[in-house]
Amino acid sequence: MIDSAVDHVEATIREEIEKICWGCGLRLLLPSNAPIFKCGWCGAVTNQHAQKRKDKSLRWRRWRDRCFVSVVSLFMLCILCGGVWTVHPVVFSISYISGIFHCLVTAVLAVSTFTTFGLAAFRCAGRPPNIQWGSYPVVGKGDLEDYTFCLYCCKPKSPRSHHCRSCGMCIEDMDHHCPFIGNCVGATNHRHFIIFLISTLISTVYVTIMCSYAGWHIWPPLRFTSLAHPYILASGSTSRVVRELSHALLGSAMLLSTRGIILVYLIVSSVSVQIGLTILLWQQLCYIYEGQTYLSHLSSGADGGSGERDCQNLVRFFGCPYSFSRHLPIFRSSRKKHRK
Ligand SMILES: [Zn+2]
Ligand SMILES: [Zn+2]
Ligand SMILES: [Zn+2]
Repeated sequence: MIDSAVDHVEATIREEIEKICWGCGLRLLLPSNAPIFKCGWCGAVTNQHAQKRKDKSLRWRRWRDRCFVSVVSLFMLCILCGGVWTVHPVVFSISYISGIFHCLVTAVLAVSTFTTFGLAAFRCAGRPPNIQWGSYPVVGKGDLEDYTFCLYCCKPKSPRSHHCRSCGMCIEDMDHHCPFIGNCVGATNHRHFIIFLISTLISTVYVTIMCSYAGWHIWPPLRFTSLAHPYILASGSTSRVVRELSHALLGSAMLLSTRGIILVYLIVSSVSVQIGLTILLWQQLCYIYEGQTYLSHLSSGADGGSGERDCQNLVRFFGCPYSFSRHLPIFRSSRKKHRK
């Protein structure tokens, strides 16, 4: 009687600690009933509490992304057309050579910005390769090392991949999902995204310079009041000078032509875009220099992650040839040395 009860308890314990690995399908004997365990054969990580998920908001997210991409494309087209219409007559009125040079610079910047935008927005950000899983003879030892099971895609997810709910798929080396390009920034299009940011930044700086130059030429003369003649202003207080100057600027702005109003709009919008782009580009280059992505930076926490800070990371990222990159100096952070 006692023996049968002991057998029953042993059988229950054995049943509780026998789990099946999703990666290779082998039955594993676990020392305890852990909710998450790793297979000793294929290396796959199983989370017993995870359940299959279905994303209901995928269609809404795709519609939002398409709207953002349309707005960004339209904005870039407006800046290009507005810039051409307002600046070209002024530049050509100065000299024919400067006009031709300006046309060439505009064409190069426009082509590079629109091409890199297209590549970043419409190229797949990094689809993980299809790998076989589920049965022991097919999956070899360590084939699924640290792989987890994506509950949305229902297939293996590598440690370098993340599932993007806006794209509805796993993305390799995912940095972030950018609504302005309506796409993830991942292994395949990260470089195009950075070149797009650099190209847009250079283009907006050029727009600001050329629009300011054209504005200087077509701005109506400042109208000072009789009491506020420039010579009198020179001897007055700072607040009075600022007040009179702003009144004069506003007075002449009222006489601006349509071309002048568009120039003011172009200057304000390009400077605003420059500020945002500079912050984003600086942040992105810092992550690349650290050998990380935005998501790996978030998951690494306060210790700074496992990546090594090195200028070679930037060189590798932009795909410079080894013969060129080996002549570059290597700067390593002091924090990394201390950790060693
Ligand atoms: Zn396994
Ligand atoms: Zn997935
Ligand atoms: Zn995405």
